[in-house]
Amino acid sequence: MKKIDFTKFDSLLSVAEYFNTDTICKQALEEARWGDDVVCPYCGKHHCTKMKNGRFCCTKCKCNFSVTTKTIFANTKISLKKWFFAMYLISSHKKGVSSHQISRDIKVTQKTAWFMLHKVRSLFTQSDADVLFEIVECDEMYLGGAEKNKHDSKRTEGTQGRSTKTKKPIFGMIQRKGNIVALAVNDTKAETLMPIIKQFVAENTVIYTDELNSYTRLSKENFTHAVVHHNENEFVVGDIYTNTIEGFWSHFKKMVFGTYHSVSKKYLQRYIDEEVYRWNTRKMSESYRFSDMFAKSIGSYEYEDVLNAA
Ligand SMILES: [Zn+2]
Repeated sequence: MKKIDFTKFDSLLSVAEYFNTDTICKQALEEARWGDDVVCPYCGKHHCTKMKNGRFCCTKCKCNFSVTTKTIFANTKISLKKWFFAMYLISSHKKGVSSHQISRDIKVTQKTAWFMLHKVRSLFTQSDADVLFEIVECDEMYLGGAEKNKHDSKRTEGTQGRSTKTKKPIFGMIQRKGNIVALAVNDTKAETLMPIIKQFVAENTVIYTDELNSYTRLSKENFTHAVVHHNENEFVVGDIYTNTIEGFWSHFKKMVFGTYHSVSKKYLQRYIDEEVYRWNTRKMSESYRFSDMFAKSIGSYEYEDVLNAA
């Protein structure tokens, strides 16, 4: 089978020109997923045979399956070409792309576009996130309406600043000149944040944070900890600052408020994953990022939040 040269996909036009029939799209998936050795997605048997109808059959477990079985494209009624366009659009737009925009761009209903986007977004999972080291900035942000901008009747008592009654806390750890890991959390107490930091940040790392009390325990663990006192209008002291992660929050907010307008608590982690992916692949070319997403799209897929196939 001929290998596809993904370096040529440096624009939506090049994707549209190449993936112009369903047969070519399926061939591309087959090649990327199996090459010459078709493996049964149910029992793992190798060298399954192709049937006349284009599906495959497994002589061991007697299942028959297609190249989209157990991928985000499983049981889809939408052409693969449209899926690939959606993947390209979401990975190349710096502030994300809304379901309304996708709906217009690839001629599907907004509801279908919403499902497609969520499935594509599910490829951005941080489950295999790297360990961060050297210098890491940790910070928390709160997503939700600023209470001071709300009408008196809509304000919630005790929700100014860091309260989590109406705001959703997100915790992030970013390695200087490296990757970020960011997670939606229930609260920003030390009991919540410490295990996360220990999971993702290597021992002996230098960690910079703001003055939140939850971080005071860091110096008792195997970390070197320094604090920026934002309350005292202190933002940069030599190398000690948290501006890198604040830059990430700013990108995240631009995506949420500029493109999606609001995000539900249920899917918050998916949106965080999307922006984290964008940040961690920021040095990649468009074509490399598309090839990376293509590879992810045929990986094993388990996404139960959005059950209905588009
Ligand atoms: Zn099988």
